[in-house]
Amino acid sequence: MGNITFTMIKPEAVEAKNTGAILKRIEIAGFRIVAMKKVHLTAERAAKFYEVHNEKPFYNELVEYMSGGPIIAAILEKDDAVASFRELIGATNPADAKEGTIRAEFAESLSKNAVHGSDSDENAHIESSFHFSDDERF
Ligand code: UDP
Ligand code: MG
Repeated sequence: MGNITFTMIKPEAVEAKNTGAILKRIEIAGFRIVAMKKVHLTAERAAKFYEVHNEKPFYNELVEYMSGGPIIAAILEKDDAVASFRELIGATNPADAKEGTIRAEFAESLSKNAVHGSDSDENAHIESSFHFSDDERF
């Protein structure tokens, strides 16, 4: 089980000034911030990040949304980081997210669901390297 995961605080949550509250929830849950930045993805970069979803009906909308405003990108460290973080954020659809999860508290909808979390150790490394070089990690 890997010790890093990758997250993004998504545009609507940044816009709503929920960055601080979400980061607080993440740190209280025991994650250490290894790397972090605010970035406005181009549509091309967002399309590349979500390439695994390019056959899905929601792909174009997702790319437009994720390039529609700045996000906070971060690498997080904790034992069993991927599974532990998915538990903290809750289900993709906030209607199904358990009470106390970040998505239950901050998501607006199935698409605008406040945060991203990697789904595997392999993707955690791929996604971390998409956004950060080795000398940006501490
Ligand atoms: N998404 C969407 N409609 C759907 C499923 C997903 O708009 O029916 C968006 C949503 O923002 C989600 C992202 O696409 O977070 C990636 O989907 P995935 O199934 O990987 O969910 P996640 O891993 O983020 O929980
Ligand atoms: Mg996913």
